[in-house]
Amino acid sequence: MIEAWPTADDPFGHPREACGVVGIAALAGRRVDAARAAFFALYALQHRGQESAGIATQVGDRVHIHRGMGLVAQVFTEDSLAPLQGPVALGHTRYSTTGSSVLANAQPYLIETLHGPLALAHNGNVTNARALRRALLARGVGLVSTSDSEVLTLMLAEPAEGEDGVPDWPARLDRIMTRVQGAFSLVVLAGGALYALRDPLGLRPLCLGELIGGQGEVVGHIVASESAAFGTVGARFVREVAPGEILRLDADGVARLRAPEEARRPALCVFEYVYFARPDSQLEGRDVYMARMALGRELAAEHPADADLVIGVPDSATPAAMGYAAAVGLPYGEGLMKNRYIGRTFIQPGEALRRSSVRLKYNPIRENLAGRRVVLVDDSIVRGNTMGPLVRLLRQAGATAVHVRISSPPVRHPCFMGIDLASHAELVADRLSVDEVCAHIGADSLGYLSVEGMGRAVGTGPRRGHCAACFTGDYPVNVDEHRGERG
Ligand code: SF4
Repeated sequence: MIEAWPTADDPFGHPREACGVVGIAALAGRRVDAARAAFFALYALQHRGQESAGIATQVGDRVHIHRGMGLVAQVFTEDSLAPLQGPVALGHTRYSTTGSSVLANAQPYLIETLHGPLALAHNGNVTNARALRRALLARGVGLVSTSDSEVLTLMLAEPAEGEDGVPDWPARLDRIMTRVQGAFSLVVLAGGALYALRDPLGLRPLCLGELIGGQGEVVGHIVASESAAFGTVGARFVREVAPGEILRLDADGVARLRAPEEARRPALCVFEYVYFARPDSQLEGRDVYMARMALGRELAAEHPADADLVIGVPDSATPAAMGYAAAVGLPYGEGLMKNRYIGRTFIQPGEALRRSSVRLKYNPIRENLAGRRVVLVDDSIVRGNTMGPLVRLLRQAGATAVHVRISSPPVRHPCFMGIDLASHAELVADRLSVDEVCAHIGADSLGYLSVEGMGRAVGTGPRRGHCAACFTGDYPVNVDEHRGERG
């Protein structure tokens, strides 16, 4: 399981997700509370980042912004939303992957330019950020934070070639598309319009929707990291923003400024299917929930088990566990109850609680476990320091055998594209064989889904590519800047 543990220093060593972005633009003559819609969309994207949140809106040449550390519901109140007026808004919820966890790195970024304010929200990680940063410094541009998103903002502030006093936003955004490497799903607020762009490989998701008014009419448009945000604000899913595509959203509607690069094989992060995206989101035209069920079915075909009951680690592994149970013909049941109200806290658990961290989060359902041989399905094992305590918890609750099944392959490589998994040295599957991991977690047996099985489940094929570099080491972008840095 990959869980973003709430404490500031991530004491249980779980990987962190990237970020969530949202943009709202009302159509001319339509009343849309853009900031409120952005708030509720961010609320639906909370799982993508719990460190900070922010919303910026624009009225005329003035941008209003509110940012803060913590959960979306902690950062915003009626009082802080009230000044965020205007028909366009962009929002961000963050979990840092580069740059430290301080307010200076909270997004949206906002700077003043010769042509008015420029705000930006970024999901992803730029893999050539150091080179771009050096180039900015060499041109005399100063930076105030350690975030790669600031680099993108300052690159956008620079005039495009041949500009004659009027900012050429399509050209400036095109420059981002051609010079920046890595993962970037961006929403930019400039000159009263929103711009949405997705990197040429489509590493991180971004989708487009229509805001629907009281009479069923379209009143505006929304872009968001995941389609799960649309239902929350009464929006209708239209389509995904294609890899390499640039859109403008404003009072006139949606315009495509740059077409996707059809020739390039996309590389959406396969971990979005495995864990990151909400199960009620759609990716590449399919429900994440159904993809997770398929991961479970493939896992069952590769690693059946002689057992009485299949349970999943809640909540992210539940669909895979259900798929597994259906495929092997075993009953599916609940064996663990999760405390869903654990939020971000700066209270450190202390050594004793840290050791029993799993108990803070999960309670066994003894009636379902006692005297039974259990298959425990989880979506991934990264550092391996949660699964062992979970297996012990099930045994203490009376399970007579615990067979662990993982609906993704062993994670053996770090991610440099926006997901803070772990360093090589921390990845348990990089240090230990499958049998050794099994012994380490104290399970009766352990089975991981193969890379091929994962590809079958999520539909990787000649026309649909996915990044699976943390499993295979085959990175879709040049990561030389980072080699050696994390292992
Ligand atoms: S390395 Fe793994 S987590 Fe990172 S983008 Fe690729 S599949 Fe996703």
